[in-house]
Amino acid sequence: MPSPDNVMDKLVSLAKRRGFVFQSSEIYGGLGSVWDYGPLGVELKKNIKERWWRAMVHERDDIEGLDAAILMHPKVWEASGHVAGFTDPLVDCKQCKNRFRADDPRIKGTPGQPDAQCPVCGMKGTLTAPRLFNLMFKTFMGPVEEDAAVIYLRPETAQGIYVNYLNVLQASRQKVPFGIAQIGKAFRNEITPGNFIFRTREFEQMEMQFFVKPGTDLEWFEFWKAQRMQWVQGLGLHAEKLRFHQHAKDELAHYAKDAYDIQYEFPFGWQEFEGIHNRTDFDLSRHQQHSGKKLEYVDTATNERFVPYIVETSAGADRTTLVVLADAYHEEEVSGEKRVVMRFHPALAPIKAAVFPLVNKDGMPELARRIYDDVRRHVNVFYDDGGSIGRRYRRQDEAGTPFGITIDGQSTQDQTVTVRDRDTLLQDRVAADRLVAYLTEQLKG
Ligand SMILES: [Zn+2]
Repeated sequence: MPSPDNVMDKLVSLAKRRGFVFQSSEIYGGLGSVWDYGPLGVELKKNIKERWWRAMVHERDDIEGLDAAILMHPKVWEASGHVAGFTDPLVDCKQCKNRFRADDPRIKGTPGQPDAQCPVCGMKGTLTAPRLFNLMFKTFMGPVEEDAAVIYLRPETAQGIYVNYLNVLQASRQKVPFGIAQIGKAFRNEITPGNFIFRTREFEQMEMQFFVKPGTDLEWFEFWKAQRMQWVQGLGLHAEKLRFHQHAKDELAHYAKDAYDIQYEFPFGWQEFEGIHNRTDFDLSRHQQHSGKKLEYVDTATNERFVPYIVETSAGADRTTLVVLADAYHEEEVSGEKRVVMRFHPALAPIKAAVFPLVNKDGMPELARRIYDDVRRHVNVFYDDGGSIGRRYRRQDEAGTPFGITIDGQSTQDQTVTVRDRDTLLQDRVAADRLVAYLTEQLKG
């Protein structure tokens, strides 16, 4: 068995080689824990986000979409508790200038005391006492860099939904219970980021906030827990690598009454990539207090007034992409040769089919081009005439392309092509004019 680190190394290396994920600003030595999605990565992530949006917005009549700005009024973050509470205790080494979390297990002794030893330079007595460090990225709005002009890059997308809750409610004529969904970037100045795109300083969230009548929150919490696990399972992941983890009392965030993570067994262990949280009326009550605006809901049928409770489903788009990448990675032996194959669910695969003329002569490239032009109007397809057919298959296996369409000598005679299945390696002979229908059928779901 390859070691877990080894599996991550291989995945990171494949991600770069095939154009899924690159390190940010690599030619300058990279920027810590910031990553860029390449040609295949952007398609994969987009397919995941679109699947989420379809399930959460288009297929439901009680959820509306929103795209709120990253920059928000600074008072939002006072109301949400992020200015005061979104902090980690950190210690600095006065000698080597490195910064650590106060609970870093590598630190020996008590930071701030002469016995404490820096885990990097090894000096004793150079670590400061813990100081609180806010995880929000700060910047300045307008031309003057002064305290009054400080604003933040949002550390979560949820607040953009809360401050728009009444706008959406009124504009959409929804009634409680209803939800607002959003996909967008958020930023956290993490001190110990890592594990590739698992914990990054810039990341994308897929969040849905569901507004319910107090007292019905437990029911809705169970409903959304089940829905989200079902959606995750629908990504075609190994079932034994998925589980729920309930937050213990001491793990619960200050706003949460109950919280479950959906965890995946990554090569580096079980970790969360989505959370379902019962946030109670904490958020809307706080915004009501801080803004001075009433955020009550009035039930027109019963004339009841209440501040809705919120059940949140919050998924990381990057983490879900990492789950899909890690789960798809397979090494196997095919007729004595090692094959690396990304077994993506066909609906998530960045490229659905590749078109190969067997050789670049005898009318094969012309027919292959015609087929390529036809198929590309329906699905994302790739044309490759470089190198041996075996090498071309292997490149598409690493890209996770479900189907390889080969135009061979017989094709120019009878207008049929072979379609190779990425997983079974079986080949079907299909009439060229039936190819689109064949692929559409195979890619369903
Ligand atoms: Zn040091």
